[in-house]
Order: sequence, then structure tokens, then C-alpha cells
Amino acid sequence: MLWNYILVAFLPFSLGYNNFRIGGVFEGYDGIGCVFGKSASTLREILGSDPKNLTKYVTTDEELKLWDVQTKVCELMEKGVVAIFGPLSPQSLSHAYSMCDAMGIPHIATTLSIDDKLKSINFYPHSEALSTLYYDLVVEYNWKTYTILYENKISLLMIKPLLERWNSTGYTVSVRLLNGPDYRRMLRDVKLSGEQNFIIDCSVEILPEVLKQALQVGLLFHKFNLIITSLDLQTINYQPYQYSGMNITALRLIDPDNELVQIINYKKPDCGKLTTNKAVMYDAVQFVALAFKNLTNSTKKIVRSLPCDGSEIWEHGETLTNYIRTGSMEGLTGIVKFDTRGYRSEFAVDILNLGEDGLKKIGIWNSTRGFKWIPKPVILEADTELSLHNQTFRVLISLTKPYASVKDSLTKRVGNDRFEGYTVDIIDELSKMCGFNYTFMVQDDKNYGSYNNFTGEWNGMIGKIRANEADLAIADLTITQQREEAVDFTLPFMSLGISILYRRPTKAEGSLLSFLSPLTLDVWFYLTAAYIFVSIELVILGRLSSAEWVNPYPCIDEPQELKNQLTFSNCLWFTLGALMQQGSEIAPVGMSTRLLAGCWWFFCLIMVSSYTANLASSLTYETPVQPFRDAFDLARQSKIKYGAKKGGSTLAFFQGSDKKEYRHIYETMMNDAKNCLTSSNEEGVEKVKTEDFAFFMESSTIEYETERDCSLTKIGPQLDEKGYGIAMRKNSPYRHDLIAAILELQENGKLSKLKLKWWSEKHGGGSCVQASSSVPSELNLKNVGGVYLVLFIGIGISFIWTIIELLLYVAAQSHEYNISFKEELIKELKFVIQFNRSSKPVRRRAPSRRSGISTTECASIDTSNTNFEDSVC
Ligand code: GLU
Repeated sequence: MLWNYILVAFLPFSLGYNNFRIGGVFEGYDGIGCVFGKSASTLREILGSDPKNLTKYVTTDEELKLWDVQTKVCELMEKGVVAIFGPLSPQSLSHAYSMCDAMGIPHIATTLSIDDKLKSINFYPHSEALSTLYYDLVVEYNWKTYTILYENKISLLMIKPLLERWNSTGYTVSVRLLNGPDYRRMLRDVKLSGEQNFIIDCSVEILPEVLKQALQVGLLFHKFNLIITSLDLQTINYQPYQYSGMNITALRLIDPDNELVQIINYKKPDCGKLTTNKAVMYDAVQFVALAFKNLTNSTKKIVRSLPCDGSEIWEHGETLTNYIRTGSMEGLTGIVKFDTRGYRSEFAVDILNLGEDGLKKIGIWNSTRGFKWIPKPVILEADTELSLHNQTFRVLISLTKPYASVKDSLTKRVGNDRFEGYTVDIIDELSKMCGFNYTFMVQDDKNYGSYNNFTGEWNGMIGKIRANEADLAIADLTITQQREEAVDFTLPFMSLGISILYRRPTKAEGSLLSFLSPLTLDVWFYLTAAYIFVSIELVILGRLSSAEWVNPYPCIDEPQELKNQLTFSNCLWFTLGALMQQGSEIAPVGMSTRLLAGCWWFFCLIMVSSYTANLASSLTYETPVQPFRDAFDLARQSKIKYGAKKGGSTLAFFQGSDKKEYRHIYETMMNDAKNCLTSSNEEGVEKVKTEDFAFFMESSTIEYETERDCSLTKIGPQLDEKGYGIAMRKNSPYRHDLIAAILELQENGKLSKLKLKWWSEKHGGGSCVQASSSVPSELNLKNVGGVYLVLFIGIGISFIWTIIELLLYVAAQSHEYNISFKEELIKELKFVIQFNRSSKPVRRRAPSRRSGISTTECASIDTSNTNFEDSVC
């Protein structure tokens, strides 16, 4: 190990738990100190407070001297700590242990130790248990001869039981030291020795070089078998060796399927790859904090500073040690628990095979129960024609309503009769059609199957199909591209897409201006414009039309003047009266003005009726308040939490998406995996009902839930389109028969009938058919454009009509008074544009010139200076 510098981390927690402080002394920086800090920084959940005042002492000493250990440990004791972690090297470790032991402070070790005199609390599995594992493995493989390549004294002790297997009756064991950096010669000798079974026992630091050189000399050959005892093969680049054809067995303590490991790997704390030593350190910090919490539940004010002269000891140290030795916890390294001798007990090690598909789990070794092997998958030959008839299939189902569930029954049911549901009925139909028998198996954890990039393995239903633990899997199991590479699917028996399940929106309160809502803003604007325009038009037409100039005093036969009622204010009042459906005492009398008024009334009639109808429906409809309309809205906000099923295709959709928003959704869910990811859809639905939570779920299941619970609804459009299929092993000979049978079920309507039965009829289906109350929409210009058109055509015709009337009138006048047409027209128009005048003098034919009187006589009350009068009087 490189001893580049020393890291002393001192972590105090100011909290109700009496200033929890742990100290660590670590040589070199291979990430152990970093993990120590990271693990401590997550103790909020256990201790209820954030770590404060993290202090680090860093030195660049090449080697850790005993004196340095002493100084740093003393420094920590004087600050007051509840436990001291490290250092990592055996010599420094025992020195730190003696100091802690003298002062009653628990001393924590996290590395492999072969020194049984060292009574530190060691979280690393004991060497005795690991050597038993190696021995058991060799016995399981029935190796009679083997060669062990070992690195140093420690590894020699680890392989002691393997050496003891040698005896003169036929067991041959050879041992070779890995004396680097050039191992080639030794490896070549080993290869030429004729041995076929090898065990490499060395640290992960030199393992890549040893394997590389073994490959170079041809030791990694397909006829040979190799066991690598390091628990960290998965942290190095093993790709160059996976195609060697050699039967390579590896071991690991960290299960990458462990939820906690997945979260830690996802968050990628910048401490390098998660090696076994780091995982053990992470667990140790958590475990000590847990034990300390239990201790402080019974004792108050306990942490204190201790002088390093050994004059005082910490009175609670032994109790804390007892709490640690008797506690248990689930950590990154599985169950953390100690036996009576103070060694890790009940821990499990995965047995892996390194082959072309990468590292594949082939079994588990448990320190108390021994081996459990995973059955080898049976790879069926492609195109082998096998009839389904009379075959018995193990069919994997998941108890998720309505796809499958346990029947409610007072009598005890056995076998397949225990289950009911949509997928149960489909299998039943298929078995009748194809003549096969089946036995249902239940996937208890409802894990449908996801691929672990770290191990190259599938878990869940897909994993079981691949491992030949079941023949068919049917559930709401989505066909995805990645899954199709691992297993075969039938054609989809149901289509769906991802959508959002959320609480039904609440109703919004009505607004003060809701009377405006029937019409859009631009319709209101055009309505006002039309009102003003028609009023002005009426004034102009009224002035132009001779019929509108009427005798104001009907009892006088020959009035002095004519009056026009269509003044600007009267016209505004008239059009307003029509618009308000009230009428007015003003009424046009000319043909053209009446035409215009008629068109306006028609316009008003349609507009007012449309407004009234739309107002009635918009007042009765209460607009629902939707906090978000789709997944994008949801991604933009942070108030409402959202999630999806853990390990499901929905989560995989967001993970694999290249849309920024979907990636954001995925990251948000992973960052708060504990609250956002659920182990089943039911758990997600429950969260939606009880919390402010939106759940990404498949539309078919959303439909099922919303038909039964009226407080739930589907929000937004579907994010994708996919289907559920029946999974079977790759190249399964039954695939085509099953596809044909599914197609037949589709064509004869059986699938739709089953859907209706399980969605809308059984188990309270149809009790909440969501009424499609369409939101009344505002009337826009498109809806009422036609009425405007009619109005403008009317305006145009009445205008033309008026012009014709005017011209005829002017022609008659010019003839009667013997004036040129043009002159008369100009005079008339000049009068028309005098909008302030609403009376017109009556022109009379005067006596002939011969009587000495002018030809026309002007009689007007209003004799003000106008062009009209100037010309005629
Ligand atoms: N149908 C999904 C699957 O096959 C499970 C549910 C989900 O992820 O929404 O993984």
C-alpha cells in the first residue's frame, strides 16, 4: 500500500446525542478516508443532526511512524471521541488499538486481519471464515490437484486450510510465490507443470498485472480452471480476460443488487470505485453511530475529552463496545452482525463466473449456511420443433391486480386454483388452445427484471427465466428492447404507455370577471369596433338618404325645414338598444338605413344568443385547478414529489431518455430514491392517495385504478407506446405457437372481453367511470366570424343603395331647379358633411323671373352662413 499521507478525520456532531464524535487515522489516500467522511455525512437519519466542524489533519509523510499514530490518536482523544477508526496497516493498527484499549475507547478496524491477539472490533470478515470459503469451494469443485499462487505472508495464512488438504493419497497441492513485478517466468513454469487448477490469492492492487501476464504466457487457457480469491475483481477492468475461455471463478462481498449499493453507486461519491474495504468502512461508521444512538438512549452527557497520559479511561467505552458487538444492521456488505468471538457472522459472498457475458452470479456462500448454487440455464436449441401438447410449464406471475391476485375464498384453495386475474385467464385460454399444462409460481418481490451493468446480470422475472427457474413469465411485463436481448417475448397482448397518476384536481373558485369568459378578448374588441362603426355608418347613411330628412311638424304641410333624427348620439343609442335587446324610440325610415339596421339586429341576435348560451354553461362549470398538465410541467416544479416503480420499465424509460426533462425526472427520482421509488405499483397508488405525490405508471394500470377510485385521475398524454408480452427463454421452440395463439385470442375478441371483465366488471370496476365533462370554451373569432361577415355585407349593400338613392335625388333636384347635376351634387355633399346640422331648409320653387323675383326662395329658421343657403337664397 502506498503511504502517501496521513488523514485524520475528526467528525463531531452537535446534537441531542451528546456530540457524537468519531476519529479516523488513515495512511495514504486510496479513498478510505473519503468514504469515512461520506458515510459520516449521511448520519443525519440515524442521529438527527448534520455533522459540523469536520477537521482533517493531512501530512505527506511517506510512511506512518508509530510516533505519528500516537500523536494523532492522542489528539483525537483530547478532543473527545466515541471511537477511533484505523489506521490500515497491521503494525499501526495494533499500536492504535493498544492506546484505545488503555483508555477504554472502542477501536474499529475495517481491513483483513490475521492477528487474533488484536481485539479491535473488525468489520471485515474474519480470515478464518474466508479461508473456509476457499476450502469449501475447492471441495465443491472436487479439485484433487491444484496450484496456489500467493502474494505474501497474509495470503499464505489465508490458504492454510487448502494446504492442509494435501495428503499422500492423491491430493497434490503446489504453492508458488507471486514475486513481482515480472511474474511471467513463474507463470510459464506453472503452465508447463501440467496443472489445470489454479488459485490466485493476492491483493487487488497487483491482480490486474498478474492476470495480464498470465494471459501473455497463455495460462488463461480454456482447458484450465482458476479461482481468484480477491473480493474486488469487479472493480478492475476484467474485460481482457472474459473471452479467454478459461473457467474463472471470482468472489465478491458487495451485492450490486443491494438497494443501498445501487444508490451509493448512482450518487458516485468522489471516492473512487466501491471496493470491499471502502464498503466495510462505510458500514462500520453507520453501525457505530447506530450503537451510539442506542447507548445515548439510556445514558446522558457521556462524551468527554481524555488526557493522553492514560490517567483516565472513558467509562462508557465498554458499554458502547457491547452495543456494537450485539447489534445488527443491513449495510453495503450485507448483514452486519458479530458472533460471540466478535467476528462478522452470517455474511454472504457471491460466487461469480467470468465468461463472455461478464461476471455472472452462479451461487452464494453464506458463513453459516454454506453454498447455494443457482441452477444453470438450459439453453434450448433454436428451431427444435417441439409440440406444446402435454408439456407442463412453470409460469411465473406477479400478484398485481388485475393481472393476477389470490382469490378471496372461504374454502382453502390449492395449486393454480388459488389465483385469478387477467393474465391467469390468458394462460388458461392459451393452455386450452395449445394443450399444455401449467403450474403458477409467484414472483414475491414483484421485480420484473432489470439489467445490472455492474454485474452483467438480470434480476427479477427475467433473471428467473434466464436461469431456467421458470418457463414463462406473464404479468404487466413490458416488452423493452433491452429485455428482448435477454429473453424472447410473444406479441403484445395489451398496448399501453407511460402516464401520470395523480389526485383528481379540485375546483377553482369563480372569478369576478367570469361574465367575460364566454367570448375571447378579440371578439369583445371586434364587437365594440362593430358597434362604433355601425353607429357612424348609420349617421352617414342617414344624412345621405333623402328619406331620413322628414317634416318635424306633421301638422304643417309646408315646413320651413326638414329634420334628421339620425344624429350621432341617437345612432349610438339606437345600436346600443339593439345590442342590449331593448330597442329604442328611434327608428330609421329610409330603405338603406333600414337595411343597415336590419343587419345590425341580426348580428346582435346571434351574438347575444351565443353569449347567453356560453355564459350559462361557463357559469355552471367549475374549472378544475390542475397543478401540472404533463410530465414537463412536473419536471419544472419541485413542490410535488414524483416517482415510479423501482427496477421497472417506466424508470428505465426515463433513465434511457435523451430528453433533458426526462433525464431531470430520472435524476430527481434517483436522488430521493427512498421517497420516490416504490417496490410495487400498489405502493405508488397508496402514496398518491395519501401524499402530494404523482406516480408515473402505465396507462392500463392507471385505467384500472381510476375506474375504482374517483379521487384519482390520469394526467397528461402518454409519454410512449409499448405492450405487455409473455416472456420465455431465448430461442424457445414454443414461441411461434404462443404468438399464433395470442393472435387468435386477439382476433376472436377474447382479449377485449377479458379486459372488460377485469377492468370494468370485477372487483368494483366501473364504479367510477370518469364523466367526460368538457370544458366550455370561449367563443372566438372563428366561431362568430360569419355573423360579422353578414353585418359587413349588409353595411356594403346599404351604402351602395344610399349612393344610388342620393344620385337619383340629386338628378331630380338638378332637373327641378335647373342646376347642373355636378353643382347640385357638390352642394348636397357639402351639406351632408356638416354633421353638426340636423335640420335642412326646405327649397321651394319661386315665381318666374318675369315677375322680378328670384327663381328659388329659401325659407329657413336656420339662416346661418352655409354653402347650401348661399347658393340657393
Ligand atoms: N410494466 C413494468 C415492467 O415491466 C412495471 C411497472 C412500471 O415500471 O411502471 O417493468
